[in-house]
Amino acid sequence: RTVYVNGEYLPENEAKVSIFDRAFLMADGVYEVTSVLDGKLIDFAGHANRLARSLSELDIPTPPEFDDLLEIHRKLVAENGVNEGMVYLQITRGAPGDRDFAFPPKDTRPTVVLFTQNKPGLADNPQAKVGIKVISIEDIRWGRRDIKTVQLLYPSMGKMMAKKAGCDDAWLVEDGFVTEGTSNNTYIVKGGKIITRNLSNDILHGITRAAVLKFAKEAQMEVEERPFTIEEAKQADEAFFTSASAFVMPVVEIDGAAIGGGKVGSVAPRLREIYLEESRKAAV
Ligand code: PLP
Repeated sequence: RTVYVNGEYLPENEAKVSIFDRAFLMADGVYEVTSVLDGKLIDFAGHANRLARSLSELDIPTPPEFDDLLEIHRKLVAENGVNEGMVYLQITRGAPGDRDFAFPPKDTRPTVVLFTQNKPGLADNPQAKVGIKVISIEDIRWGRRDIKTVQLLYPSMGKMMAKKAGCDDAWLVEDGFVTEGTSNNTYIVKGGKIITRNLSNDILHGITRAAVLKFAKEAQMEVEERPFTIEEAKQADEAFFTSASAFVMPVVEIDGAAIGGGKVGSVAPRLREIYLEESRKAAV
Protein backbone atom coordinates (compact mmCIF):
# COMPACT_ATOMS: atom_id res chain seq x y z
CA ARG A 1 0.00 0.00 0.00
CA THR A 2 1.11 3.52 -0.75
CA VAL A 3 0.60 6.00 2.09
CA TYR A 4 1.11 9.75 2.42
CA VAL A 5 3.30 11.37 5.07
CA ASN A 6 4.15 15.08 5.13
CA GLY A 7 4.26 15.65 1.40
CA GLU A 8 5.62 12.25 0.38
CA TYR A 9 3.99 9.17 -1.12
CA LEU A 10 5.72 6.10 0.26
CA PRO A 11 5.30 2.34 0.64
CA GLU A 12 3.65 1.86 4.06
CA ASN A 13 6.70 0.15 5.58
CA GLU A 14 8.89 3.14 4.75
CA ALA A 15 6.58 5.77 6.26
CA LYS A 16 7.78 7.19 9.57
CA VAL A 17 6.69 9.73 12.16
CA SER A 18 8.63 10.96 15.17
CA ILE A 19 8.28 9.42 18.64
CA PHE A 20 7.89 13.04 19.83
CA ASP A 21 4.76 13.53 17.75
CA ARG A 22 2.13 15.26 19.90
CA ALA A 23 -0.55 12.78 18.82
CA PHE A 24 1.58 9.86 20.00
CA LEU A 25 2.42 11.52 23.35
CA MET A 26 -0.78 13.49 24.04
CA ALA A 27 -3.50 12.52 21.56
CA ASP A 28 -2.99 16.04 20.18
CA GLY A 29 -4.37 15.51 16.71
CA VAL A 30 -7.51 15.30 14.64
CA TYR A 31 -8.71 12.94 11.95
CA GLU A 32 -11.28 12.30 9.25
CA VAL A 33 -12.55 9.15 7.57
CA THR A 34 -13.96 9.49 4.07
CA SER A 35 -15.67 6.57 2.37
CA VAL A 36 -14.89 5.50 -1.17
CA LEU A 37 -17.57 4.00 -3.41
CA ASP A 38 -17.02 3.25 -7.11
CA GLY A 39 -13.49 4.62 -6.61
CA LYS A 40 -14.89 8.04 -5.66
CA LEU A 41 -14.98 10.06 -2.44
CA ILE A 42 -18.26 10.35 -0.54
CA ASP A 43 -19.11 13.71 1.12
CA PHE A 44 -15.54 14.95 0.62
CA ALA A 45 -16.38 18.63 1.08
CA GLY A 46 -18.16 17.94 4.38
CA HIS A 47 -15.13 16.10 5.74
CA ALA A 48 -12.67 18.76 4.53
CA ASN A 49 -14.75 21.52 6.14
CA ARG A 50 -15.05 19.69 9.45
CA LEU A 51 -11.30 19.03 9.41
CA ALA A 52 -10.62 22.76 9.02
CA ARG A 53 -12.97 23.48 11.94
CA SER A 54 -11.36 20.81 14.19
CA LEU A 55 -7.90 22.25 13.47
CA SER A 56 -9.06 25.79 14.11
CA GLU A 57 -10.76 24.86 17.43
CA LEU A 58 -7.47 23.32 18.60
CA ASP A 59 -5.35 26.13 17.18
CA ILE A 60 -3.32 23.75 15.02
CA PRO A 61 -1.91 26.02 12.30
CA THR A 62 -2.30 26.02 8.53
CA PRO A 63 -4.89 23.49 7.42
CA PRO A 64 -3.98 22.08 3.99
CA GLU A 65 -5.68 23.70 1.01
CA PHE A 66 -8.95 22.01 0.00
CA ASP A 67 -7.67 21.25 -3.51
CA ASP A 68 -4.40 19.78 -2.25
CA LEU A 69 -6.28 17.53 0.18
CA LEU A 70 -8.59 16.36 -2.56
CA GLU A 71 -5.65 15.59 -4.82
CA ILE A 72 -3.89 13.55 -2.11
CA HIS A 73 -7.09 11.59 -1.40
CA ARG A 74 -7.61 10.90 -5.10
CA LYS A 75 -4.02 9.93 -5.73
CA LEU A 76 -4.02 7.39 -2.88
CA VAL A 77 -7.35 5.92 -4.00
CA ALA A 78 -6.03 5.54 -7.56
CA GLU A 79 -2.58 4.30 -6.58
CA ASN A 80 -4.02 1.66 -4.23
CA GLY A 81 -6.86 0.66 -6.55
CA VAL A 82 -9.55 1.31 -3.95
CA ASN A 83 -13.02 0.75 -5.36
CA GLU A 84 -14.84 0.42 -2.03
CA GLY A 85 -13.20 1.40 1.20
CA MET A 86 -12.01 4.48 2.99
CA VAL A 87 -9.34 7.12 3.27
CA TYR A 88 -8.04 7.90 6.77
CA LEU A 89 -6.51 11.33 7.34
CA GLN A 90 -4.76 12.49 10.50
CA ILE A 91 -3.21 15.86 11.27
CA THR A 92 -1.33 16.42 14.52
CA ARG A 93 0.32 19.39 16.20
CA GLY A 94 3.62 17.99 14.98
CA ALA A 95 6.76 16.79 16.65
CA PRO A 96 8.75 19.33 18.63
CA GLY A 97 12.01 17.92 20.01
CA ASP A 98 10.78 17.43 23.58
CA ARG A 99 7.74 16.43 25.57
CA ASP A 100 6.06 19.51 27.02
CA PHE A 101 2.44 20.25 27.99
CA ALA A 102 2.64 23.71 26.48
CA PHE A 103 2.00 23.87 22.74
CA PRO A 104 5.16 24.06 20.61
CA PRO A 105 5.99 27.24 18.64
CA LYS A 106 3.52 28.11 15.88
CA ASP A 107 6.06 27.32 13.18
CA THR A 108 6.21 23.64 14.24
CA ARG A 109 5.16 21.67 11.17
CA PRO A 110 1.93 19.70 11.70
CA THR A 111 2.22 15.99 10.86
CA VAL A 112 -0.07 15.01 7.99
CA VAL A 113 -0.71 11.29 7.41
CA LEU A 114 -3.15 9.60 5.03
CA PHE A 115 -3.73 5.97 4.17
CA THR A 116 -6.43 3.91 2.48
CA GLN A 117 -8.25 0.76 3.54
CA ASN A 118 -9.89 -1.51 1.02
CA LYS A 119 -13.34 -2.70 2.10
CA PRO A 120 -14.99 -4.61 -0.71
CA GLY A 121 -18.72 -5.00 -0.09
CA LEU A 122 -18.95 -1.83 2.01
CA ALA A 123 -22.20 -0.66 0.43
CA ASP A 124 -23.74 -4.15 0.36
CA ASN A 125 -22.93 -4.87 3.99
CA PRO A 126 -25.18 -7.83 4.96
CA GLN A 127 -25.43 -6.45 8.53
CA ALA A 128 -27.59 -3.62 7.21
CA LYS A 129 -30.23 -6.24 6.29
CA VAL A 130 -30.49 -7.75 9.78
CA GLY A 131 -29.43 -4.86 12.01
CA ILE A 132 -27.01 -4.76 14.92
CA LYS A 133 -27.20 -4.99 18.72
CA VAL A 134 -25.99 -2.36 21.14
CA ILE A 135 -25.45 -1.95 24.86
CA SER A 136 -25.61 1.36 26.71
CA ILE A 137 -22.70 2.63 28.76
CA GLU A 138 -21.95 5.85 30.59
CA ASP A 139 -20.40 8.59 28.46
CA ILE A 140 -17.26 9.61 30.32
CA ARG A 141 -15.49 11.32 27.41
CA TRP A 142 -14.29 14.92 27.51
CA GLY A 143 -16.58 17.88 26.86
CA ARG A 144 -15.51 18.80 23.31
CA ARG A 145 -16.83 15.85 21.33
CA ASP A 146 -17.59 18.22 18.47
CA ILE A 147 -13.86 18.20 17.69
CA LYS A 148 -12.81 15.00 15.92
CA THR A 149 -9.69 14.24 17.96
CA VAL A 150 -7.72 11.00 18.02
CA GLN A 151 -8.54 10.49 21.73
CA LEU A 152 -10.37 7.26 21.01
CA LEU A 153 -9.48 5.16 24.04
CA TYR A 154 -12.90 5.25 25.70
CA PRO A 155 -14.84 4.62 22.46
CA SER A 156 -12.45 1.75 21.84
CA MET A 157 -13.10 0.37 25.35
CA GLY A 158 -16.83 0.80 24.71
CA LYS A 159 -16.55 -1.37 21.60
CA MET A 160 -14.81 -4.05 23.66
CA MET A 161 -17.51 -3.90 26.36
CA ALA A 162 -20.10 -4.35 23.61
CA LYS A 163 -18.24 -7.33 22.14
CA LYS A 164 -17.94 -8.93 25.55
CA ALA A 165 -21.72 -8.61 25.91
CA GLY A 166 -22.23 -10.27 22.51
CA CYS A 167 -23.16 -6.95 20.88
CA ASP A 168 -21.73 -4.82 18.11
CA ASP A 169 -21.54 -1.33 19.56
CA ALA A 170 -22.23 0.83 22.61
CA TRP A 171 -24.52 3.85 22.90
CA LEU A 172 -23.13 6.44 25.26
CA VAL A 173 -25.38 7.96 27.92
CA GLU A 174 -24.83 11.22 29.80
CA ASP A 175 -27.23 12.66 32.41
CA GLY A 176 -29.74 10.02 31.34
CA PHE A 177 -29.70 10.90 27.64
CA VAL A 178 -27.99 9.18 24.72
CA THR A 179 -25.20 11.33 23.29
CA GLU A 180 -24.03 9.13 20.38
CA GLY A 181 -22.50 5.73 19.56
CA THR A 182 -18.79 4.94 19.97
CA SER A 183 -18.19 6.10 16.39
CA ASN A 184 -21.55 7.16 15.02
CA ASN A 185 -24.63 9.33 15.53
CA THR A 186 -27.76 7.69 16.93
CA TYR A 187 -31.46 7.89 16.03
CA ILE A 188 -34.83 6.46 16.97
CA VAL A 189 -38.06 6.45 14.99
CA LYS A 190 -41.49 6.76 16.64
CA GLY A 191 -44.74 7.09 14.74
CA GLY A 192 -42.81 7.90 11.56
CA LYS A 193 -40.85 10.70 13.24
CA ILE A 194 -37.04 10.56 13.20
CA ILE A 195 -35.55 11.68 16.52
CA THR A 196 -31.85 12.42 16.93
CA ARG A 197 -29.85 14.44 19.43
CA ASN A 198 -29.43 18.12 18.57
CA LEU A 199 -25.97 19.42 17.69
CA SER A 200 -23.81 20.85 20.50
CA ASN A 201 -20.34 20.26 21.94
CA ASP A 202 -21.69 16.97 23.36
CA ILE A 203 -21.54 15.09 20.05
CA LEU A 204 -19.61 14.97 16.83
CA HIS A 205 -21.38 16.84 14.07
CA GLY A 206 -21.59 13.85 11.75
CA ILE A 207 -21.20 14.50 8.06
CA THR A 208 -23.45 11.52 7.36
CA ARG A 209 -25.96 12.85 9.91
CA ALA A 210 -26.18 16.18 8.08
CA ALA A 211 -26.71 14.46 4.73
CA VAL A 212 -29.23 11.92 6.02
CA LEU A 213 -31.33 14.57 7.81
CA LYS A 214 -31.33 16.68 4.64
CA PHE A 215 -32.50 13.72 2.54
CA ALA A 216 -35.11 12.77 5.16
CA LYS A 217 -36.59 16.28 5.09
CA GLU A 218 -36.54 16.31 1.29
CA ALA A 219 -38.49 13.02 1.37
CA GLN A 220 -41.10 14.73 3.64
CA MET A 221 -40.09 12.68 6.67
CA GLU A 222 -40.53 14.40 10.00
CA VAL A 223 -37.31 15.09 11.94
CA GLU A 224 -37.00 16.17 15.57
CA GLU A 225 -33.58 17.12 16.93
CA ARG A 226 -33.56 16.56 20.70
CA PRO A 227 -32.01 14.24 23.28
CA PHE A 228 -33.69 10.88 24.00
CA THR A 229 -33.24 8.26 26.72
CA ILE A 230 -32.50 4.54 26.46
CA GLU A 231 -36.02 3.89 27.84
CA GLU A 232 -37.53 5.92 25.00
CA ALA A 233 -35.32 4.10 22.50
CA LYS A 234 -36.55 0.73 23.81
CA GLN A 235 -40.14 1.84 23.15
CA ALA A 236 -39.32 3.14 19.65
CA ASP A 237 -40.48 1.56 16.40
CA GLU A 238 -36.94 1.65 15.00
CA ALA A 239 -33.42 2.64 15.93
CA PHE A 240 -30.37 3.22 13.76
CA PHE A 241 -27.04 4.98 13.54
CA THR A 242 -25.10 6.84 10.86
CA SER A 243 -21.39 7.22 10.10
CA ALA A 244 -19.18 7.76 7.10
CA SER A 245 -18.01 4.15 7.16
CA ALA A 246 -21.33 2.38 7.95
CA PHE A 247 -23.71 4.86 6.21
CA VAL A 248 -27.12 4.08 7.79
CA MET A 249 -27.19 1.01 10.04
CA PRO A 250 -30.33 -0.39 11.71
CA VAL A 251 -30.16 -1.24 15.43
CA VAL A 252 -32.53 -4.02 16.49
CA GLU A 253 -31.58 -4.56 20.13
CA ILE A 254 -30.61 -2.22 22.99
CA ASP A 255 -29.48 -3.68 26.34
CA GLY A 256 -31.17 -6.97 25.46
CA ALA A 257 -34.53 -5.37 24.56
CA ALA A 258 -35.74 -5.94 20.99
CA ILE A 259 -36.58 -2.79 19.03
CA GLY A 260 -39.41 -3.07 16.53
CA GLY A 261 -39.78 -6.78 17.39
CA GLY A 262 -36.08 -7.30 16.71
CA LYS A 263 -36.58 -6.79 12.98
CA VAL A 264 -35.24 -4.07 10.72
CA GLY A 265 -37.98 -1.50 10.07
CA SER A 266 -38.72 0.56 6.98
CA VAL A 267 -37.26 4.01 7.73
CA ALA A 268 -33.60 3.04 8.22
CA PRO A 269 -33.35 0.92 5.03
CA ARG A 270 -35.08 3.65 3.06
CA LEU A 271 -32.67 6.30 4.36
CA ARG A 272 -29.74 4.01 3.65
CA GLU A 273 -30.89 3.56 0.07
CA ILE A 274 -31.46 7.29 -0.48
CA TYR A 275 -28.14 8.15 1.16
CA LEU A 276 -26.17 5.66 -0.94
CA GLU A 277 -27.87 6.72 -4.15
CA GLU A 278 -27.57 10.47 -3.61
CA SER A 279 -24.06 10.48 -2.21
CA ARG A 280 -22.85 8.20 -5.03
CA LYS A 281 -24.21 10.74 -7.51
CA ALA A 282 -22.41 13.57 -5.73
CA ALA A 283 -19.13 11.65 -5.16
CA VAL A 284 -15.92 13.21 -6.44
N1 PLP B 1 -19.82 10.35 16.41
C1 PLP B 1 -18.58 9.89 16.65
C2 PLP B 1 -18.09 9.86 18.06
C3 PLP B 1 -17.76 9.44 15.60
O1 PLP B 1 -16.53 8.98 15.86
C4 PLP B 1 -18.27 9.46 14.28
C5 PLP B 1 -17.48 9.00 13.14
O2 PLP B 1 -16.37 8.59 13.23
C6 PLP B 1 -19.57 9.94 14.06
C7 PLP B 1 -20.31 10.39 15.15
C8 PLP B 1 -20.17 9.97 12.68
O3 PLP B 1 -19.64 11.03 11.93
P1 PLP B 1 -19.51 10.92 10.34
O4 PLP B 1 -20.88 10.71 9.82
O5 PLP B 1 -18.96 12.25 9.96
O6 PLP B 1 -18.59 9.79 10.06
